[in-house]
This record gives sequence, structure tokens and C-alpha cells, in this order.
Amino acid sequence: MVFEWIMHLQDNEQLYSVVQSAPIGICILDAATFKAELLNDKFMEITGKPQEAIIGKWYWDPFSEAREAYEAALNNVAQTGETFHTDEAELMLVRHGREEMIFVTFVYAAVMNTAGKVTRIAVWAIENTWQAQKRRAIIASEERLRALITASSDVIYSLSADWEVMRELDGRGFLKDTHGPITGWRTRNVHPDDMEMVNATIDEAVRKKQIFQLEHRVLRADGSPGWTFSRAVPVLDDQGDIVEWFGTASDITERKRIENALREAREQADRQKRVYEAITSGTPDLMYVWDLDYHFTYVNSALLAMWGKTWDTAVGKGLRENGYEEWHAAMHEREIDQVRATKKPVRGEVAFPHATLGKRIYDYILIPVLNERGEVEAVAGTTRDITERKLWEEKLAQASEELQAINEEMVAVNEEQAASNEELTVTNEELTAMQQRLETSNHELEASSSRLRMAIESTRLGTWDYDPRSGALYWSKECREVYGLPEDQNPTFATFSEHIHPEDHDWVQRRIQKAIDPETGGHYELSFRIVRFGDGEIRWIKVQGTVYFDQGQAIRFIGTVLDITDIKTAEEQSAKLAAIIQSSDDAIISKTFESVITSWNAAAERIFGYTAGEMIGESIYKLIPEELHYEEPQILARLRAGQRVQHFETKRRTRDGRLIDVSLTISPVKDSRGNIIGLSKIARDITEKKLDETRKSDFIGMVSHELKTPLTSLSAIIQVTNTKLKASGDSFLMNAMEKANQQVKRMTTMINGFLNISRLESGKIHIEKQSFDIGELITDMIDEASLTVGSNQIRFERCPPIEVNADRDKIGSVISNLISNAIKYSPMAAAVEITCTTRDGQVIVSVKDEGMGIKPEDLGKIFDRYYRVEAAQTRHIAGFGIGLYLSSEIIQRHGGKVWAESEPGAGSTFYFSLPLETD
Ligand code: ADP
Repeated sequence: MVFEWIMHLQDNEQLYSVVQSAPIGICILDAATFKAELLNDKFMEITGKPQEAIIGKWYWDPFSEAREAYEAALNNVAQTGETFHTDEAELMLVRHGREEMIFVTFVYAAVMNTAGKVTRIAVWAIENTWQAQKRRAIIASEERLRALITASSDVIYSLSADWEVMRELDGRGFLKDTHGPITGWRTRNVHPDDMEMVNATIDEAVRKKQIFQLEHRVLRADGSPGWTFSRAVPVLDDQGDIVEWFGTASDITERKRIENALREAREQADRQKRVYEAITSGTPDLMYVWDLDYHFTYVNSALLAMWGKTWDTAVGKGLRENGYEEWHAAMHEREIDQVRATKKPVRGEVAFPHATLGKRIYDYILIPVLNERGEVEAVAGTTRDITERKLWEEKLAQASEELQAINEEMVAVNEEQAASNEELTVTNEELTAMQQRLETSNHELEASSSRLRMAIESTRLGTWDYDPRSGALYWSKECREVYGLPEDQNPTFATFSEHIHPEDHDWVQRRIQKAIDPETGGHYELSFRIVRFGDGEIRWIKVQGTVYFDQGQAIRFIGTVLDITDIKTAEEQSAKLAAIIQSSDDAIISKTFESVITSWNAAAERIFGYTAGEMIGESIYKLIPEELHYEEPQILARLRAGQRVQHFETKRRTRDGRLIDVSLTISPVKDSRGNIIGLSKIARDITEKKLDETRKSDFIGMVSHELKTPLTSLSAIIQVTNTKLKASGDSFLMNAMEKANQQVKRMTTMINGFLNISRLESGKIHIEKQSFDIGELITDMIDEASLTVGSNQIRFERCPPIEVNADRDKIGSVISNLISNAIKYSPMAAAVEITCTTRDGQVIVSVKDEGMGIKPEDLGKIFDRYYRVEAAQTRHIAGFGIGLYLSSEIIQRHGGKVWAESEPGAGSTFYFSLPLETD
């Protein structure tokens, strides 16, 4: 049509104005010469060349750059008259002197005369560069979108306005029966338990025309229950009514499972931490951890108590800040450096003044805490007060000089000393072995955390996409959250690198390089620290990814990222505490209420000879000698009642059948809600201490015995002198002699006390029972006491006669001891009140005073041998700390009990009970 119309244009004038006003570029060529005869402004605009360069010229002169591609086509038009036409041809054109890639749609159309001969050729051109670029960009972004959809595990769906009909757009069949549009999908796919919630959220989204977003349970294609995260956006028409919904659903079943696993792991770590804390707070040893800058990062309650500080004022501080003297701080700092350099434990002994106890001697051991790469990251230590042992060793040495008889014993002691030196060497070796075990368990921890990691791998996490050629980096929303990158900033590889923790930076870079190297690369999986954008917080992340290669070049590097800081800190925490426990010299054992052992440290292995493998899962009764089996239920009953059992001395049997003396401290382990879930037990080997005590009482026994003979003669001499003096009537001498007599009596009582102890210990004390009235005995003892003390008022409400069957002398000495203590530890003239009652087949005697009283922490110990309360008030009161010990032994041998109640400053009441004969 158009051609014909042009053909009838005879007039050049007319032709010219049609060409000029055309909205497309036109250029008319002579068909024989290909010279341009006419062209319009639009043509010049498109070609970017001036009129004079084209008009009158051979067409290929100005368009030499296009000649090769289109000359043949133009020639063909001239010869055959057939129209040539291209659509959006991409071609290079020199416009305004510059080479440009442009898109043009153009036509070469023949103009024929009436005879049908081609006389002219019209070139029509339209530029499409802008549209073509835009279209390409759209295609590219569609491709990217498609790639993202393929890469994501999300299901993409559309929904009818009322949510009844659903169509899965990518047809992956995530939901049940979703091949094609489905109606009633809600009842079929939403988990019945979440139906109500889902419906309510849909209703609200429909009402408010807002985004629907929800995590809920679903029935998956295979009928199994799962979790999904669904998000749908309403599409609105001009009126603002909803036409349909468009949404995505991701399967978060695995994530939910991991969240649970993570929560459980954290709870487990918490529980473990509480166990450790219960343990470390129960020991009298000092336990602590330093970081490599010599700051305390952990301090147990015994150490805090010694410093008189709280956790907050002590932890995070250095040695000097916590009151260590310069030499002492410098020494430990050197040792920390040594442990760090050698990864070996350091053991030492140190003496320094204690705030309240005077000069003390301590034995300590420092051991390295290793991280998962086997580097030392902290130093854990345990310190034990060995002053008593040392003191006694010294005393024993003195005694040997004075008493020939002990000489031989000393030889034995020296030998033992040598043996214990050997033991120390063995201990050191054992410590190294212990270290190895710790390493093994660290590996186990690593293995279990890698299992956890594997589980995490299968979930959908933060994702990233890196093009190693262009350096372009894309981070998903979750990924940005992990790094703390604000939404208005784009990540680049350089900023990512800057945010790798300085200590991890270099090796992480090397691993990335390795991953994108076609020789070594492919898979990539690392855990390292990052410094978050914005807040600068240090977090642990786990990154993994896959590199895609094309002809030996890495073209795409895609992967996931997960924040694992919580897991890391939990691991570090328990590694530290485990090190403390391993460094302890005491056996530390956890067990259930059924007496089944659940943990067993290195010292337990050393003391009892059984390995952890042999004992975990076994009953604690394996260690208890048969005749002591009755103790365990008693201990459990006390713990069930929430009490703590401290310094309970008993015997245990080792693997090689030896009986050893142990002191037990047992605490209940509670969960976060305070329920008792198990027990932690610290057993200290006190065989050595017991031996010391035996030596001590042998020594005292011997000395007392030696003293008894001269004292008996002295007493006899006084008796004789007294009789003679009575005849002389010298009142001064008589009085002096009476005083001497009293002193000799006191001394005799004292020496008898010591002798009793040593008899008690060697089992030579005999109870000789007889029947007597306890009230009478009390009266006798009061009379005797009144002879020596004048000012105190002793009150005793006589009770009805109560017959007991017991050793009258020994019960008498118990009563006399309680009365003399009541007077000794009370001010002059204070009242002492004695009562005697019967209850539940027992007689109970009490002695009450209004004296200084006893602090709760001492109350449990005053019945121990040689125990005396250390205080300014008691320092000047004479005593050896044996009266109450003897009393309690005597009463126990009668099947009775001794106990005391006291309020410091207000007074104490001592009780004892004796069973009444029932027959
Ligand atoms: P001693 O009196 O010889 O030191 P005991 O075994 O009789 O030894 O007593 C042990 C410790 O118990 C005493 O050192 C004292 O601190 C404390 N004690 C005993 N009886 C009383 C009391 N009635 N009031 C206050 N403290 C007491």
C-alpha cells in the first residue's frame, strides 16, 4: 500500500515534504548509483552524521562500517525489487565521530517506475537502542529471578482472593496433591492443631489487605508433619480489591528441629555448668582460671571467701588488683607464660600470710586449657592449703630431737617422705596422662559438634552469592543479619574481608583462594570469627559453599552462613570447667540418687585405681566396704532433705583392695528450676592425714604416760606433807599445799584425758556398765565443780529418779566436761542451767550457759579431735580441744548422741542422750 502510494508521487516537492515530516529516518538512494538524493533530519539524528556527509555521496562512503554486513542486501533490492528488512539489528555505527553499539530496525524498499524498473531505493530506519537494552535488562533480571527460584528451596504459589484455590507455580509438589490448581488445600495441608491460628491470620490479612506471614505446621506431600514458613502478598485491582495472592512457602522443618537441638544442647551445657559449679563451690581448695593476659576469668567460692571479695569485684582483674604481692604476682605470671609455652602443667609450693589464719603454706598446680586447635587459651589452677601437714612434719622433727624413743620412728617418717617424693614424680606423669585424656575428650566434643553442624548444613540459612570474576557479592536478608550489615548498604568482597576477625583474616583468605582454585577447590567449609558491622561485636560463624567452574575458571561461589557463637561459647565454657575439674587433686564424682556414677575425674582414677570407663554407669557401692554399706542411705537421706554433707570421714576400698581414709563433701546438683537431679561428690584421700594423727596421738600417749609416774609420786608427797602440816597448824602452808593439791588434780585430769584418747584410738578403752541414777550423778558432778569455781551459779532442777545402765565414771567425766566448758566460756558469775528429761526411751541431759556462744560454721567441728575455735576471746582460755571429742566418743559407745545449739553472744546448750534399758 505504502509503496504504491509513494510510486504515484510525481512531484519532488511533494516527496520532499513527505520525507521531511515522516517520524522515521528516511534516505532515498538512486538505484543505479546508490547515491543519496534525499534524506530527512530524523535520518541524520539516527545515523549521527551530517547531511553533507551523506547527500550526493555513494551510500557506503558514510556508512563504511555497515558495508560488509548489508551491501549484499542493498544490491539485491536494486536487482530484484524485493524489500529487505531487519528487526532490531545490533550494529556498530560511528556517530558524531564516536563508535557506538546501537539497535536499529530498518528497511531497504525498492521504488519502481510504471515500467516496473527499480529507480530508487528508500532506506527507512527506526532506532530501538533504548527499548532493546531495557528488554535485555528485563530478560537478565528474569533469568536471575528464575535462578533464585531454582536455587531456593521455597515453594512459589498463587492463591485465589478467598484463599480457597491454590496453584504451585514451580510445581514441586511440596504440599499434598498439588499438581495443578487445588481447592480446599487448607483442610488438606494445614496441620489440624494449627488450623485455627492459620485461619485467623488469613482472615486478618484479607480484611486489612496486608501481607500474610506465618510459621505453622503442615501435612507434607508424603503425609508426614512438617513446619513451613509462608508469606503471601495480595495483588490489588484499580478499585483496590484483592484479585489474587502471590506467595512463597519454605520448608523450615529442619530449622525447627535444629532450633530444638540447639536449645537442648544449650540446656545440656547449662546443666553441665551447674554440675561443675556445684562441684567447685563445694571444695575447700582454691580453684581459678586465668586468661593469657593474667586476668582471672574464673574464681571459685573458696577463693572468693579467702579474698573476702565478690565475683564481680574479683573476676576480670589481674593478680595485683586481687591483692597479690609483687613477687607473688610476678611468679604466677612467669608460670602462666611457661604453661603457655610448654603446654605442660606446673606444680609448686608457696607460703604467704592469710588474712585471718596467719602464715599458710600452699601446694598448687597450674594446667593448660586448650582450644579446639590445640592452642593454650587459658590456664586453670588448683591450690591446696597444706599448712597443717607441714606444721606437723615440723613438730615431729622437733620431738625427735627431744625424745630418743622417737628416733626410730623418724627414720620411718623420712623413708615415707622419700616415698611421697616419688609419688610426686608419679603424680606429674599422671598429670601428663591426664592432659592427654583431656585432649581426647576435646576431640570427642569436636566430633559431636561436627555432627550438630552436619544437621545444620541441611537447613536453609543465610545465603550468599559471589562472582569471583567481577567481584560482585550478594547477601540474603539472613546473611546480612548475621553480619549486621544495614539494609541500605551493599556488601563487597573487600568490606567482607575487613570484617573477618584480624586473627582469622589471613587463613580464611587463604582458604577462599584455595576454594576458587580449580586444582584444589570446589567445596568450602570454615568456622571463624567476624567483627560485625555497626556494633563491632565479635561473633563466630560457620560458612560453607560450593564453587562452580567453567573451563577452569571459578565463575560462581554460592553458600550459606550460620551464626554459631552460642554453640562456641557453650563449648568453651565447658572446656574451661572440665579443665578445672581435671586439675583437681580430689576425686570429683557425680552420681544419681540411685548411686549410679555419671562422671569420674582423673584424681578419682588416681585415688581409687579405677578408670572412668570402668566406673561410669557402675554403682558407687563398688567402692564402699561391706561393713559401711549402711552409711550411703543415711547420706542420701540428708541430701534429699536439701542438706549438704561436709567433711564426712569414712573408709573406701580401692581397686587393689586397700582400705583408704577419705573425707567426703557431697552437694546436690539442681536443674534450672531448682529440682535435685543428681549429686556431686568430692572425695579427698586423707590416709596420710590419718597416719599423721595416729603418730600424733601415739606421741601424746607416750608423753602422758611418762608424765604420769612423776605426777603420782608428787601427789603422794603432797598427801603425806598435808597430814604432817595439819599437826603443825601453819595456816599459810596448809593453804598453799591445798592449792598445790588442786593443781596436781587438774593436771592429772588433763593427762588422763590424753591417755583416754590414745586408748580410745588404739581401741583399749573399756566401758564398764552399771545401773545408777543419772540425777544423782549430775548432783555429784555439780558439787565437784563448785569446789573449783566459786562465782558461777549452777542450777539444776532435780528430776524424778532415772536409772541408766552405763559406765558411771565416764558419763561423769562427760557431765563434768560440759559443766567446766559452760563455766570456762562464760563470763564470771553467769548462770549455768542443767536439765534432765526422758523422751522416746532415752534420757536427755542438757547444759545451758549464757556465754560467748559458737558460730554456726564452728558448731559442726567442735566435736572433732583437737578442734578449738580460733578467736580473740578464746585465745587466753586454756584447753586442748579434746574434751568434747572424748565426750562424744564415750556417748557414742553407749549408743547415744551428743549435739549442741548455740547463738553467738547469747549462749550455748549442749545435749547428750543415752538409751534407757527397756527390759
Ligand atoms: P577445750 O575446751 O579444751 O578447748 P573442748 O573439746 O572441750 O576443748 O571444746 C572444743 C571447743 O569448743 C573449745 O575450744 C571452744 O572453742 C568450744 N566450746 C566448747 N564448749 C563451749 C561453750 N560452752 N561455749 C562456747 N564455746 C565452747
